[in-house]
Amino acid sequence: MPLDQAAAFLPRAIDQASNPVLVTDADLTYPGPKILYINQAFTQMTGYTWADLQGKSPRILQGELTNQKELKRLRQCLEEGKEFKGANVNYRKDGLPYLVEWNIAAVRDATGQVTHYISMQRNVSKRREEEHFSRTLLNNIGEGVFGVDSEGRFTFINPAGLRMLGYSKNEDLIGQNSHQLTHHSYPDGSPYPEKDCPIYQAINAGKPLKDWDEDWFWRPDGSGFPVEIYATPLWQELGLVFGGVVTFRDISERKHLEYELQQMAFHDQLTHLYNRRAFYDLLEKEVARSQRYQTQFSLLMFDLDHFKQINDTYGHDLGDQVLVRIAELTSQRMRENDAICRWGGEEFMALLPETNLSCAQALAEQLRKTIADEVFPEVGKVTASIGVVEYQTNESLDELTCRVDALLYQAKTAGRNRVCADAI
Ligand code: GH3
Ligand code: MG
Ligand code: MG
Repeated sequence: MPLDQAAAFLPRAIDQASNPVLVTDADLTYPGPKILYINQAFTQMTGYTWADLQGKSPRILQGELTNQKELKRLRQCLEEGKEFKGANVNYRKDGLPYLVEWNIAAVRDATGQVTHYISMQRNVSKRREEEHFSRTLLNNIGEGVFGVDSEGRFTFINPAGLRMLGYSKNEDLIGQNSHQLTHHSYPDGSPYPEKDCPIYQAINAGKPLKDWDEDWFWRPDGSGFPVEIYATPLWQELGLVFGGVVTFRDISERKHLEYELQQMAFHDQLTHLYNRRAFYDLLEKEVARSQRYQTQFSLLMFDLDHFKQINDTYGHDLGDQVLVRIAELTSQRMRENDAICRWGGEEFMALLPETNLSCAQALAEQLRKTIADEVFPEVGKVTASIGVVEYQTNESLDELTCRVDALLYQAKTAGRNRVCADAI
């Protein structure tokens, strides 16, 4: 629409616009431009009415906290006929300071002569306060917080995050792919493809990730730590994801505690072998597996010979040391899939998956010999008697353990330091 047609409503439009507007003349000689117009939003922002400001210098809005350097830059811009963009502290009529963002442009007549300056303003105190609050929050919380763009590159990171990830400068991370830098491998060191990364998946799918504590972040020195992760996608308008915010904390201590609790629940405190309860669970699983897939497995039970005498002669503490050493010696002889437990005081049980009776018998003989050959400090020689059985189809666990116990008893009565296997 040509300007002359817009003239009918333009003054009203400007007067009622929601952004504060101030117009001055273009007289840059001392004492500077005078105010010729303010709109309603300007009155709302400052508390000044037209009667208050008519013909005054905008300097009336300035005060102690107003940045003089910024004002100098403003004057320079106006003198050079350039548009000015900036922010400064101004004061309301009631004396309260506020932070204002300005755009000041020259208004020219048909000959190109500058006749006025128009200043479009915005009170950004609230926004700046919020930004300051967010920054202070990010700088002071113990959790690591970082942002990533839609390609997974770091966009920012807070000091706690930087420290946990083992970096000293933001620049070492910003712009780099977060997965490749900190999340490239699983805890066992095997490669962790980005497409399998739950952070990457959450952000790409636009679905938040919460309480994720199965992951591990790596530092540049090659060390790593378990983390709990939250990831929140950031949305652009029209539903496009443009990155995300990731919060994480180092949960080494919690994982360590969980591990200790698990150790306590499933392992014997003295020998660190499985305890009876954990072993029983393993046995139940193995019986179920055997019944389902017709796999074979064997069971060994061994008991130290005349151990009461060892205790009585050398004391209970030395007896304990013998038990610990026996646990070490026997577990070293086991294969990875075998399981060994401390079944009772000086009784042990071993589960040998995929093992038939004759192989189990051979292993039992090796164990017997390993124990018998060992010289225990202060105690000397110790021997064990061993029962060996192979699982029989449809046999119950109780039947199985009774059978192995009976064979162990047989080894004892036959003179000890020997292996007795099933007769079948
Ligand atoms: P046998 O050859 O018939 O097995 O004789 P034994 O003396 O070993 O008899 P038994 O297996 O019945 O005795 C178990 C002994 O093991 C009793 C106890 O003095 C000892 N014992 C059991 N638990 C512990 C333990 O935790 N530490 C120590 N030091 N000794 C234990
Ligand atoms: Mg014994
Ligand atoms: Mg015993």
